[in-house]
Amino acid sequence: MDYETHEYDVLVVGAGGAGLRAAIEASAGGVRVGLLCKSLLGKAHTVMAEGGIAAALANVDDRDSWQVHFSDTMRGGQYVNNWRMAELHAKEAPDRVRELEAWGAVFDRTSDGRILQRNFGGHRYPRLAHVGDRTGLEMIRTLQDHGIHRGIDVHMEFTVVALLKDGERIAGIFGYERERGRFKVFRASAVILATGGLGRAYRVTSNSWEGTGDGHSLAYRAGAELLDMEFIQFHPTGMIWPPSVQGILVTEGVRGEGGILVNNQGRRFMFDDIPEPYRNQTADNEEEGWQYTQGDKSARRPPELLTRDHVARCINREVRDGRGSPHGGVFLDISWIHKRIQNAEEHIRRKLPSMYHQFKQLADIDITKEPMEVGPTTHYVMGGVRVDADTQMSTVPGLFAAGECAAGINGANRLGGNSLSDLLVFGKRAGEYAARFARENRQPAIDRTQVDLAARDALAPFEATRTENPYTIQHDLQEAMQRLVGIVREEAEMRNALGVIDSLKARARGVAVHGHREYNPGWHTALDLGHLLTVSEAIALSAIERKESRGGHFREDYPEKAAEFAKVNMTVQQGADGAMHLRRIPLPEMPPELKQVIEENK
Ligand SMILES: Cc1cc2nc3c(=O)[nH]c(=O)nc-3n(C[C@H](O)[C@H](O)[C@H](O)COP(=O)(O)OP(=O)(O)OC[C@H]3O[C@@H](n4cnc5c(N)ncnc54)[C@H](O)[C@@H]3O)c2cc1C
Repeated sequence: MDYETHEYDVLVVGAGGAGLRAAIEASAGGVRVGLLCKSLLGKAHTVMAEGGIAAALANVDDRDSWQVHFSDTMRGGQYVNNWRMAELHAKEAPDRVRELEAWGAVFDRTSDGRILQRNFGGHRYPRLAHVGDRTGLEMIRTLQDHGIHRGIDVHMEFTVVALLKDGERIAGIFGYERERGRFKVFRASAVILATGGLGRAYRVTSNSWEGTGDGHSLAYRAGAELLDMEFIQFHPTGMIWPPSVQGILVTEGVRGEGGILVNNQGRRFMFDDIPEPYRNQTADNEEEGWQYTQGDKSARRPPELLTRDHVARCINREVRDGRGSPHGGVFLDISWIHKRIQNAEEHIRRKLPSMYHQFKQLADIDITKEPMEVGPTTHYVMGGVRVDADTQMSTVPGLFAAGECAAGINGANRLGGNSLSDLLVFGKRAGEYAARFARENRQPAIDRTQVDLAARDALAPFEATRTENPYTIQHDLQEAMQRLVGIVREEAEMRNALGVIDSLKARARGVAVHGHREYNPGWHTALDLGHLLTVSEAIALSAIERKESRGGHFREDYPEKAAEFAKVNMTVQQGADGAMHLRRIPLPEMPPELKQVIEENK
């Protein structure tokens, strides 16, 4: 078989915020850059981001600083974050946001014309630069315009199915274009993975169809390590009714604007359980909470703005104990603010336009007049490719990762808004260092047998002897992950999940597709399945090993944090036997000056 072949110095896989920012920076480094994405340019998952970009600009509250942002991020991540990444992120995010503005992003404004910032869970001060509740759209639009003007080559609707290597180092990628199903090879000195998350491993998720963990699994198969895969974020507020929209996100911005959570008895249950580390920073009465959302600097935040892991578990508790809403969630109410401000309806529509339309059109609910029904949804993966904090290079030379598919900055739990800033800060760094790597290393060679093998594997589902339906396997996996490795976990259930994953892997080896290669969704699902199975196994294996509860990882059999696990991260890597091997690795020691920063901001 002959393959159409392209050649670049740096190849970026993924055109979300991380991929676009990386491509821009690599191109600024004077090398040839190719950008690949499996959907259309402008449609990456980042476009769905709503609430904003976290950066200590201190425009709304001048007490904010990189030190407070760093401390908030470490506290939110329950101190198993990579401190160096959290430090770089907090220090560099403000410049990345200003740069985005200089490239044309039109942020909401303060009355004196600076970038407006809003409150969000776990952030001590109003910190999220935003554009209504459509921040991701503005980010993608700006980066896309800027990238196109730099002359970056974009290959859309192209799915990478394998990474290619030259000895130990990366050599390029192999994949197919969706339109005709044709295979192509891309040779490159450096490859940056920016493929986003893996929410599609679960039945209820806020993630788009693209979130199938491709980058995680491609890196794993190429020999890279995956870090902290047990840490999955279940966002507390997803839509739960009607069933067709279950999982769609309801932005934390609703709570940032004063929205409250109540159970079926009308009780604001978030006041019932405030974790000790946050007690000093949390309002102890409703009035103070309201004042905080209205910008009163002497007030403390309402408990609805505690970290996502905690809020999600409180909602779970209300539902479990019979205090839930009719469809198995709780009520999120922003309409109540008409008791406090004039023109409340107009205010809500202006501040939360997408939420207003989302509920009106999908659930026939007018959020300016009535509460929403919400419940937890699989939202974000803190775990991902293990990378060097400064360069974003993985343990495979020439293979970089940035954005949601990389790990480290968030530890056990990500604060809202810290992803968009992560994409900008570490997307830029990945682009810069990948360009440097490409300049300093010779072009790799691609061995033809590797490509032929990848092509043979990709075409295997068309073999006539096969019978398994890819959608059924995908459905069974999502059900199992939701039920057995979800928001509340327990050893026996997770071991059961590993058994299910094993049997699904066996079935996936017999997966069959019909028809031809042009726009064949069954074929695409069959190929995605391998990725979903790999990441699911990594999640279950790491979650079994972490015998404690921390951040997004909650174990009913070990409900407390354990000192032994406060000092370790988990990694998984493919062994020579082809099996997944798990290792505990010690956290790098934090320098005293950063410990001091945390101490001062407790
Ligand atoms: C509804 C919603 C709202 C959110 N709001 C916020 C917010 O307000 N603030 C915040 O900080 N975070 C928010 N998040 C999280 C944040 O949006 C994501 O973490 C972030 O956008 C991920 O960006 P990324 O660049 O890493 O990947 P993505 O934007 O997911 O892009 C991945 C790219 O990789 C491509 N790709 C994937 N696999 C392949 C493959 N095999 N071959 C080729 N291309 C591939 C895709 O086509 C896509 O172009 C939100 C998430 C959701 C779901």
